[in-house]
Amino acid sequence: HRSKSTGLPDVRERTLIAVKPDGVQRRLVGQIIQRFEQRGFKLVGLKMLQASQDVLSEHYCGLRTKPFYNSLLRYMTSGPVVVMVWEGHNVVQTSRTMVGHTNPAEAMAGTVRGDFSMHVSRNVVHASDSVEGAQKEIQLWFQAKDLVDWDCWVQTSTSEV
Ligand code: UDP
Repeated sequence: HRSKSTGLPDVRERTLIAVKPDGVQRRLVGQIIQRFEQRGFKLVGLKMLQASQDVLSEHYCGLRTKPFYNSLLRYMTSGPVVVMVWEGHNVVQTSRTMVGHTNPAEAMAGTVRGDFSMHVSRNVVHASDSVEGAQKEIQLWFQAKDLVDWDCWVQTSTSEV
């Protein structure tokens, strides 16, 4: 795909970002969305829901043998989550940087976890960790019809590259 206006390759990379139940409880949804908009990424999917055990056990299938697995599922079902799909250049890797290290002690100030979290079991946000992982997670959480492929008609930080 190439952009009709610039002739440059269209950026189709997408990632799944979720505000976890503690982020919703703490009214951090707006601040988290703002960071991704401000960076220039494009929101193509958004919904709030109470996550099911089925979806979560698929989402965290790689962690089934971990000692924290059961408490992780309890945490993730303790209240609603806000799940989003963001699109843009290198969005998977850049989002991981914006979200910060899994261990809040190592999460840099300026990252979501570095600014809002002090414990690994209440770390506010999820971000896909690879392009393939993102594709799987997007399919798991969203139906294709609920993702919006919209054209941007204003100048953004990405419209010149
Ligand atoms: N987690 C936890 N205790 C741990 C490690 C992870 O409760 O010791 C939870 C935490 O919510 C984390 C999630 O499990 O975000 C998934 O872990 P992963 O290692 O995939 O980290 P992430 O990709 O979320 O940074």
